[in-house]
Amino acid sequence: MKYVYFFGAGKADGTGDMREVLGGKGAGLAEMTRIGLPVPAGFTITTQACDYFYKHDKKYPKELRAEVAKEVAKLERLTKKKLGDAKDPLLVSVRSGSARSMPGMMETILNLGLNSKSVEGLAKATNNDRFAWDAYRRFVQMYSSVVIGLPKDDLETRLRNMKDYFKVKDDTEVTAQGWRQLVGEYKAYFKEKTGKDFPEDPIEQLWGAIGAVFGSWMGEKAVTYRRVEKITGLLGTAVNVVQMVFGNTGEESGTGVCFTRDPSTGEKTFFGDFLLNAQGEDVVAGIRTPMHLSELSKKMPKVYKQLEKVREKLEKHYRDMQDMEFTVEAGKLYMLQTRTGKRSPAATFRIAVDMANEKLISIQEAISRVKPEDIERLFYPVLDPNVPRKDLESRKIAEGINAVPGAAVGKAVFTAEEAEHWAEKGEKVILVRRETSPEDVGGMHVAQGILTATGGKTSHAAVVARGWGKCCIVGADKLDIDLRAKKLSVNGHVVKQGDWLTLDGGDGSVYQGEIGLTRPQPPKAYETLMKWCDKVRKLGVRTNADTPNDARVAREMGAEGIGLCRTEHMFFKDFEFPEKSIERQEAIQEMILADSPEARRKALDKLLPFQRRDFTGIFEAMNGLPVTIRLIDPPLHEFVPHDPARQADLAKKIGVSPEQVARRVEQLHEANPMLGHRGCRLCITFPEILEMQVTAIIEAAIDCQKRGVKVLPEIMHPLVLDKKELQILETATRRVADKLISDAKVKLEYLVGTMIELPRAALLAGEIAEVAQFFSFGTNDLTQTTMGLSRDDAGRFLPEYVDENKAGIFKADPFQTIDQAGVGQLVDSATKKGRKTRPKLKVGICGEHGGDAESVRFFHKVGLNYVSASPFRVPISRLAAAQAVIESK
Ligand code: PEP
Ligand code: MG
Repeated sequence: MKYVYFFGAGKADGTGDMREVLGGKGAGLAEMTRIGLPVPAGFTITTQACDYFYKHDKKYPKELRAEVAKEVAKLERLTKKKLGDAKDPLLVSVRSGSARSMPGMMETILNLGLNSKSVEGLAKATNNDRFAWDAYRRFVQMYSSVVIGLPKDDLETRLRNMKDYFKVKDDTEVTAQGWRQLVGEYKAYFKEKTGKDFPEDPIEQLWGAIGAVFGSWMGEKAVTYRRVEKITGLLGTAVNVVQMVFGNTGEESGTGVCFTRDPSTGEKTFFGDFLLNAQGEDVVAGIRTPMHLSELSKKMPKVYKQLEKVREKLEKHYRDMQDMEFTVEAGKLYMLQTRTGKRSPAATFRIAVDMANEKLISIQEAISRVKPEDIERLFYPVLDPNVPRKDLESRKIAEGINAVPGAAVGKAVFTAEEAEHWAEKGEKVILVRRETSPEDVGGMHVAQGILTATGGKTSHAAVVARGWGKCCIVGADKLDIDLRAKKLSVNGHVVKQGDWLTLDGGDGSVYQGEIGLTRPQPPKAYETLMKWCDKVRKLGVRTNADTPNDARVAREMGAEGIGLCRTEHMFFKDFEFPEKSIERQEAIQEMILADSPEARRKALDKLLPFQRRDFTGIFEAMNGLPVTIRLIDPPLHEFVPHDPARQADLAKKIGVSPEQVARRVEQLHEANPMLGHRGCRLCITFPEILEMQVTAIIEAAIDCQKRGVKVLPEIMHPLVLDKKELQILETATRRVADKLISDAKVKLEYLVGTMIELPRAALLAGEIAEVAQFFSFGTNDLTQTTMGLSRDDAGRFLPEYVDENKAGIFKADPFQTIDQAGVGQLVDSATKKGRKTRPKLKVGICGEHGGDAESVRFFHKVGLNYVSASPFRVPISRLAAAQAVIESK
């Protein structure tokens, strides 16, 4: 196997598409050399050598030494210079570079090849004593800390002492003599610590540096970075040994970083910074303020023109925005690196759209270049990027599961009531709960963000918050919430009611205190790109929305209808007239506590006008688009109070004894409510609920239609497990609906269908389709029931199942990304069975997976008609659906 690839003088062994083997930097250097750009010569030791190194007890492949020696000789021939030469020595840099960029996480050694002889040679050749000794001290300093591991502080102290001795402040004021003295001190320190002399032999130095770069691949910094950035599957780092060019030889030299377009806006301007008389690390360190490229055009017009040409050539060649590093040595330009530039989400859209318009890439490529996270980051507030990382780290107190991205700041409150109360006073709050229930929606709605100690990505808190695009962290299991004392304790920190908290829903971090946020603005290019997606995709995209407002937002986000309206979400909160929420709550609670159909009907009659108003609002918002309304689903105990004080309160309001309330609540208790009296079982046993809900839907539809609003209602029964069950529900639904329609003397089309969210329903989909006009997969429950994992509790152990360094049983959380092998198989076969019975059967999916890009790709392949996602995830689904078409070509 070939382990070393040479580049120089217009020829390269490697090519730009060998990133996996040469690393990003090595591949870039090879490619730039090939296309005739000015690149200093050098060679790249492959990532395969690094892989070998770690697989063989940190030993190099046996042929590596000879290969390196051969390439060093070639480099010396080409540059007409020799490592360690006493007259005009060759110096090299030794840099890391893996297939994925890991900025600053691995090691670099510069000026390698200097020793007590060649430093004199360098001084002579450049006619600059000071420069040569400065270069040497930099090398000895870097080598001692990076290769040998001597403490940086000890070296820095010696540097400070030397400057004190010579009474100078800045490094720039130090003379050749000062640097010479420092090198002497460094070497003495080296000997004292290691018992050996500082290596004089450049080849020994080189192997030391190669070992240090390979070693840094497994350094703590790099390992943590890969874990956080979810970088896996790489072989290791490559090592680039490149002839040194110097940006610090005088006013005709310098070094810079530039982008072919503006990486924060995407605008097509040449963007970058340049430092006169400086080395690369001075730009990165940010000690001196660099000049803008436009200034470079005045200071070094020839170099600037040449750089402009490089910019054009590289962008045409790579057909993407490039991020380049360059150095000017005595008026001569050298390119040291090029890579695809990182960019803001807004710039991602602008660059993709502009490049398609410039015909540099196709529209399909433009669509493929946007990632779902770019869309997420376009809309959600984020932590102010100017807050230093260290500052953030010192404020972090806990971590949970990142259920809904975006960031939020507010004062901690521990009950939904407090949240509403504080919000009314104009305070921003973060609602902290062990878990949330439908009772909490009011407080959740007014909160800036939600933090829970339990639950996973499809728990109540996560689903509801996602619907509003509200930052939410769940399953932060270290939180110890003391409701009575109104405080939480976590990892030795205490947060009291009213203390500021900042949540980062992007990564699940919880911070103490108030951290600034910024809200990105979607650029014009976003609209253009999304329109392109809509033209390409085959899959429809609807939304899960429960209120007229959510429906309006979803339409703006491009939803083509409602795929799931969870009627029970309106039982506890009147989103239009919040003061009426109490009336709703009492009506639903009275209905639940009723002990006869008559009493139930009486309570339901109170609820009917509220539901009718909700549906009217939603139909109006979706004018002309289909609206799927699901009848009541959760177990009834979720709607009644469990503490004695509130039970007594309720008893008084509805005129029964507190004991009666307590008894009924006790009766409703279930050992396993997820598999209990819920879903369509409620309407089978309490048909009055179905009658009320269907009445509300159809009356709202008739009213809207009369006013010229176009309505397409689809009535959906949840958790169906049998054809006969659905038949009973369908008959009851049609009886109520058809009577209302004929009494109103209107023509109104509506559909009756079912959710498929139990394995039995999926298996019997062929029979069920004899009754159902449409299917909608409830993949939250289908995942729960197929896998036998509770959607509310699995969050506690799923992280271990997903972490490849732990159990690594799943690649992703199955409640977030569909388990294609198991649950996906049921979706696929049930769709086929359903359509065999009813070829025109409309099939959608409305579980949380409808807003997950990878799952959407799968649903495209299965051939569903649409996916339904929460409003803020609708654009992600539109993008993923288009990308699925492009990928399948
Ligand atoms: C589902 O189960 O996937 C679903 C959409 O219903 P819910 O989340 O309301 O149970
Ligand atoms: Mg469900």
